[in-house]
Amino acid sequence: MGKIYIIDVTNRDGVQTARLGLSKLAKTMINMYLNEMGVYQSEFGFPTTKHESNYLKANLELQEMGVLQPIRLNGWIRATVEDVDRAFALVPGLKDLSLSISTSSQMINGKFQGSKCEDDILNMATEAIEAAKAHGAETIGVNAEDASRTDADFLLKFTTEAKEHGAQRVRYCDTLGYDNPFTIYDSCKRLAQEVGIDIELHCHGDLGMAVANSIAGAMGVIDGGQNAFINTTINGIGERAGNADLVAVVLGLKKSKGLAGKYKFGVPIRLSKAWKISKYASYTFNVPIPINQPGVGANAFAHSSGIHADGVLKDPENYELYDFKELGRGEPELVETGREICSGEYSGISGFGHIMGKMAIEFDSREVAEEVLELARYANVLAQQPLVADELYFVAKYPDITRKLLTLTPLA
Ligand SMILES: [Zn+2]
Repeated sequence: MGKIYIIDVTNRDGVQTARLGLSKLAKTMINMYLNEMGVYQSEFGFPTTKHESNYLKANLELQEMGVLQPIRLNGWIRATVEDVDRAFALVPGLKDLSLSISTSSQMINGKFQGSKCEDDILNMATEAIEAAKAHGAETIGVNAEDASRTDADFLLKFTTEAKEHGAQRVRYCDTLGYDNPFTIYDSCKRLAQEVGIDIELHCHGDLGMAVANSIAGAMGVIDGGQNAFINTTINGIGERAGNADLVAVVLGLKKSKGLAGKYKFGVPIRLSKAWKISKYASYTFNVPIPINQPGVGANAFAHSSGIHADGVLKDPENYELYDFKELGRGEPELVETGREICSGEYSGISGFGHIMGKMAIEFDSREVAEEVLELARYANVLAQQPLVADELYFVAKYPDITRKLLTLTPLA
C-alpha cells in the first residue's frame, strides 16, 4: 500500500504570493523547522533566479554538512531545456527538481496564444526531463499546471510520457482550486492506476477546499496503488486564497473519521513542532494566524459558552478532537512587558552581548562576538524586524553559511 509524504512549498508558492516575501535567512530557518518536523521535502526556491543562488547553494551545503538532513530540497523551474541548463549553471549541486508546464487548453491557448499545441507541451516536458537527467538530477517531478482543468485523456498521455522519460512523480496541480474532493479522488486514482507513477497533490483554496482536496486526492492515489505526495504551505500561505495548510493536512490525515491509521505517512511527522513552525511563519511573513486556524489558532482550544466549558472541564474529549499538547502548545512563553533590548541593523556590541547572554551563548573572544554581531546586523537589514532567538543561534552557530545567505550581488 502506498504511503503519504509531505512536500512543503512555503519557500516557493508561499514567497511568490502577492505582498509577501521572506529574507534568505528566514527561508533557511523554514527549511530547518520543516526538517525538525519530519517533512519529507522542501521546495526551497527558484534556481533560475539569480538572487536565490547563494541561498540555494548555502542550503545544499547545510544538507552536505548533515544539518539539513534527512529533508530533501527541490528547486522549481519551468519545464524547458533553457531553464534546466540555467538552473544547473547557477546552482550546480541541485539534486531534486520540479519542472512545471501548463497542460490545460485554457492555459495552452491563453498563455501561448496559438504558438503551442498539446504535442509541443509533451515535447517541452520530455526534453526538459532528459536535460535534467543529463545534468544528474536524482529526482524529477513534472508539474501539470492547471491539471484539474486539463482534458483527462491528455493528462493521462502527459503523465505516461513523463514516466517513460524517467520522471519519478507527476504533480497534479489544482492551480485554481477548481476541484472538489470527489473529482480529485477520481482523477488522481485514474492516473495512479493507469500510469503507475507516484502523484503529487498541489491544491489551492479558491473554493475553500484545499485541505480536503489534498487528502481526497492522496486517498485516490493510494487506492490507485501509488505513493501520494501532498504539497502544503505553513499557515496555508500561498497564491490568492492560499495553499493546503501543513498542520491542517497532517491533522486531517491523523484524526479524521476513518482515516486515522488507514493512510500512513512514509516518514513520521512530528506534529509537536506545529506550534513553533506556525508561529515562526506568522512572525516572519508578518501575517497573523487566524483566530480560528485548525490546531494553532488562538481559539482552537478556547471555550467560553456554558455548555461547552462545563463539558470540556468534565472531559476535554467532549469538545476537543485532539489535545493541544500534541501540537506543541501549552508551554509558557516569555513575553517581555518591560524594558527590552532587540537585535537590529544598528545594534552595538553591548546590547548584542546582553541578548546573546540571555540566550546563554558565549563567544570564544570579542572578535568572534563582533563578527557575529556584524552578520546579525546584515540579517536585520534584510529581515526588517528583530531576529528571533533561533535566528540568532543560527547566525552564531553557522557564521560562514550566514555570510553566504546574506550575500546579494546585483552588480556582479
Ligand atoms: Zn500553487
